[in-house]
Amino acid sequence: MLNKVGFIGLGTMGRHMAANLVKAGFDVRVYDKAPNAMLDAERWGAKAARSVAEVGEGSDAVVLMLPDTPDVQSVIGDADGLVSHPPARRLIIDMSTIAPAAARQLHSLLAEQSIHFIDAPVSGGPVGAENASLSIMAGGDGPAFHLAEPIFRALGTTVTHVGPSGAGQTLKLCNQLVCGINIQAICEALALARASGLDLQVLRHVLMGGSAASWMLDKLGPAMIERDTRAGFRIDLMLKDLKLTQDLAYQLSVPLPATSLVTTQYLDARAHDEGFSGNQALFAVYDRMAGQADAGRPD
Ligand code: NAD
Repeated sequence: MLNKVGFIGLGTMGRHMAANLVKAGFDVRVYDKAPNAMLDAERWGAKAARSVAEVGEGSDAVVLMLPDTPDVQSVIGDADGLVSHPPARRLIIDMSTIAPAAARQLHSLLAEQSIHFIDAPVSGGPVGAENASLSIMAGGDGPAFHLAEPIFRALGTTVTHVGPSGAGQTLKLCNQLVCGINIQAICEALALARASGLDLQVLRHVLMGGSAASWMLDKLGPAMIERDTRAGFRIDLMLKDLKLTQDLAYQLSVPLPATSLVTTQYLDARAHDEGFSGNQALFAVYDRMAGQADAGRPD
């Protein structure tokens, strides 16, 4: 049994996930490079560590929830990283979304040191992180997955071992492709409805009652309509995921035309300083288009 769990990366998702591990009875030691992220950790019952090495040496297993591939590579592979300061049960679980190929490389690198590595990205957003209702898609060896399972059960309700190392990340990219295209579809429906003079709240209510209903329309639709751009999942993180998806498609020669189109819309949003806004700010692209259309209309 694992008792002491280290957690690195206390951002939008990680702080809720680490708090849920405390609630589930684990002895949790946390670290984030941003001092602000560490401020309330002891209030919700975690022990604050001063470095990655301290987390590694004080834990049975370590969970990572970091922004991007280089962050995970650095926390594991740097001279003062987890490869040199592994947890007692030699298990590292990466729940960030990173490149599948990088996950496989880390799995091989760590296997040489007899350290288990599981890629276990998540879906469900900050609300799922807070309610411990995430969908967790794990890639890696069976025994390591079973060792990690009590940790996953404390964080999510759908916990699936989807295949060998890297398979979790690959599945997550499929998830992101569906999410991105769905948000774009909602933007298009809202734009067309608005131009036609329909009430957007009524539109959302009706769509949610029929076959166009979706998680995105349910959770992000209200913020899109009300222009609330506060971030749960940032535009820049979605762009990171769409790039990883396109890289994979390129390697495998799989054409993804809708994903390419949606990536362009996200790039437009970032170019207009929306990188730190939430996903739903993609609709601002249509606000700008509507403004241009109005400007071009004869008086
Ligand atoms: P975030 O940027 O809010 O949090 C990341 C945290 O990691 C930050 O507090 C940062 O200071 C810390 N960090 C970065 N480098 C570090 C290092 N070297 N050492 C210690 N701490 C470090 O990101 P997030 O929204 O919590 O997302 C984390 C991961 O989960 C990303 O890969 C993202 O794509 C994925 N994800 C996010 C959501 C969401 O809705 N936000 C949903 C599913 C998956």
